[in-house]
Amino acid sequence: MFQAITRARMAFIRNTTKGIDFRVSQLNALYKCVDENADAFINALRNDFRKPPMETVIAELDFVKNDIKDQLMHIKEYMKPEYVSKSLAVMMDTAYIHKEPFGLALIIGAWNYPVQLTLCPLVGAIAAGNCAIIKPSEIADNTATTLAELIPRYLDNECYHVITGGPEATQELLKERFDYIFFTGSTQIGRLVNEAAAKHLTPITLELGGKSPLYIDDSVPNLEIACRRLLWGKLINAGQTCVAPDYVLCSPKVQKSLIESAQKIIKEFYGEDPKKSPDLCRIVNKRHFERITKLLNSGGKAVVGGQTDPSDNYIAPTILVDVSPNDPIMNEEIFGPILPIINVGSEDEAIDFIKKGEKPLSLYIFTNRQKTVDKFVNQTSSGEHCNQIYSSLH
Ligand code: NAD
Repeated sequence: MFQAITRARMAFIRNTTKGIDFRVSQLNALYKCVDENADAFINALRNDFRKPPMETVIAELDFVKNDIKDQLMHIKEYMKPEYVSKSLAVMMDTAYIHKEPFGLALIIGAWNYPVQLTLCPLVGAIAAGNCAIIKPSEIADNTATTLAELIPRYLDNECYHVITGGPEATQELLKERFDYIFFTGSTQIGRLVNEAAAKHLTPITLELGGKSPLYIDDSVPNLEIACRRLLWGKLINAGQTCVAPDYVLCSPKVQKSLIESAQKIIKEFYGEDPKKSPDLCRIVNKRHFERITKLLNSGGKAVVGGQTDPSDNYIAPTILVDVSPNDPIMNEEIFGPILPIINVGSEDEAIDFIKKGEKPLSLYIFTNRQKTVDKFVNQTSSGEHCNQIYSSLH
């Protein structure tokens, strides 16, 4: 571990990664690595938590490949100096921002999209001229092993190193000094990583989780289409997606239509018995299975799904009603295929509800009224807003 850090740091000091030719060659090599080994990644992810091949291709491999293409397309522009406006005192000078790499980056990945969450930060690190230590999540261990086998076969062996292992390995790494840390994972572990980074005053990106609400109102002309989109976002990766709609806020009338549509759509997605479907992931491990089933059994009533099977870490796509805001399921990120519905009487009530919690990572507004969208945009704060205006579609 320490040897890898020293080698990567020395490579950076020797300026190995700074030139554009090196960066482009490494980006192309990483593209080749993902492209040529699609089957290996598909198998690893299938073994980790039965991720369907189509989801691996779309949400993992293509994601990384597109990121690489985008960086290659813009790399010259990103590396150019950025000329800035000048005050009278320096009017005769040339003033510009010179772009330089940080140095040695530590990338700590999460397990839920273990290829793209580990490799996309690497793409950025390479394009910006950094060396990197890559620490995939031990929870998706087949994918971690695949990355550890493949990366050294394609990328420069001095500049980029994959280190596998559990929390202890990450903690050992975090004792070392890095020039940048990119962490994806839970808020809880994010705090530990932030503390470790602060000791060395290391700049850091924290890509964390949280509860992402979805508000839907009765102006939506075709609730079935809205429900299909909602369920796609909720059920891809069996709900183990940081930006999955975590819960729904709507009126009792909209709730009734959503439930009717959901029963039909879930059959359409996964057949009569979702457990037999090759298109539904499993919960990643026993610990998360037990955590989610505890949430499922701690309040609310399952009106769709509700079945579980511990032998297979299976949880059926489930909709819960009669959920109280104080129920445990409303007090932590669900990260599973369970969708609680909370009834609200108005959009103002929905906004108040959202503002009482932590800022959402994503906030989804399904409505046909621009005014409603504007109200949510102006009165709430979240990592991103995804607004669906339906009038243009129907
Ligand atoms: P996690 O926090 O358990 O683990 C993330 C990483 O931290 C892993 O590599 C793990 O080895 C390491 N780690 C675990 N325990 C540690 C410890 N005690 N000390 C040091 N390192 C430790 O997260 P996870 O379960 O892998 O991922 C799920 C979480 O990630 C969810 O909250 C999800 O919302 C979030 N997430 C966020 C994004 C985003 O882009 N914002 C994307 C995906 C996932």
